[in-house]
Amino acid sequence: MINFNRKSWVEGSEKTQFPIQNLPFGIYSTHSKTKRIGVAIGDNILDLQVLVEAKKINLPLSVVSNSFLNDYIALGKHVTNQIRLDIADFLDITNPSNAAINALDLMSEATLHLPIQIGDYTDFYSSKDHATNVGKMFRDPANALLPNWLHLPVGYHGRASSIVASGTSYHRPKGQTKPVETEPPIFGPSKRVDFELEMGFVIGKETQIGQTISTKNAEDYIFGLMLFNDLSARDIQQWEYVPLGPFLAKNFCSVVSPWVVTLEALDAFRVEGEVQNPQVLPYLSFDGLKNYDITLEVALTPENGQETVVSQSNFKYMYWNMCQQLAHHTVNGCNVRVGDMMASGTISGPEKHEFGSMLELAWKGTEPIQMNDGSTRTFMQDLDTCTIRGWGEKDGVRIGFGECKSTLLPAL
Ligand code: CA
Repeated sequence: MINFNRKSWVEGSEKTQFPIQNLPFGIYSTHSKTKRIGVAIGDNILDLQVLVEAKKINLPLSVVSNSFLNDYIALGKHVTNQIRLDIADFLDITNPSNAAINALDLMSEATLHLPIQIGDYTDFYSSKDHATNVGKMFRDPANALLPNWLHLPVGYHGRASSIVASGTSYHRPKGQTKPVETEPPIFGPSKRVDFELEMGFVIGKETQIGQTISTKNAEDYIFGLMLFNDLSARDIQQWEYVPLGPFLAKNFCSVVSPWVVTLEALDAFRVEGEVQNPQVLPYLSFDGLKNYDITLEVALTPENGQETVVSQSNFKYMYWNMCQQLAHHTVNGCNVRVGDMMASGTISGPEKHEFGSMLELAWKGTEPIQMNDGSTRTFMQDLDTCTIRGWGEKDGVRIGFGECKSTLLPAL
């Protein structure tokens, strides 16, 4: 059990989204330090290289001075969970003399990098409200869900090369669209660039081809979670997706938050998911609480303008949970590798303000989103910054993910 009364000697850390109960892992550098593993604590980053050198944690220097977390994660949960406990001891308020070791860097003076070398990326489509909304808009309002949806976690293989760290800007993608049904397609910048509010999880343990992962064992394979923005060009998507699914509408850029929050840090936020009806096949059945109560929000900020929170959703709304997704992904013998990323799919809730994309919030352009500066949006405008935030909260303590932020630049 997580002790939510525990405190750190790092001043004010209990009031931030990175208290001693969180301790998420990331990769950072400063003007005087090369890339290395850091752990967020309050407004600071704990330099694991300093902790290794001070013999406070037992890890090879090559692992902590790495540009990615993969080698660290690959050590296995029996090692990484112990390291997290050792770090918590180091930071505990009962060990204030550790402040003299000088292992903290100010987060505001550090650069946070993409923490994972992502091998493969899979995107699911596991929010029932999102899938229903899309079905209503593009197909049949009376039969919004396709026949397979309630029987398996639908997903597709995405592209890992264009997943970037928070803070990255990207250009409005160009491609084929077909704005007039009766006319041939045209080429040009997308007019419908959208965000997708998602949560991603990072694989922490590999399997071999032919091996499957059960829902019971799935958590052993999940190192941690990150906020994920699956940027989408809706007009390109609508023309290209038949019959094989998303392609250029999705692979121009996806954004992740800088910190990987371990599954262990989120344990207190487990909740029950929606009752699945019809009953799932045995390989997808599971025991225990597999959903997580994590508040999610999306804000849009025009250039030099004020922010508007346009969506407030929650990770608990997932119909298919991560264990089911992983069991399904591997049931045919598909192997997974350390650093693979699996994303949830757009996370929408039942209420309109809980929808996880502009496509839904503005209902295919028919109900523009009101911004705080008086302007409206149906999709993103050039120089809009999209920021996703997420946190679990208990006894006044927040376990947060940091920001997943990106700015849309004009087309090249
Ligand atoms: Ca998606």
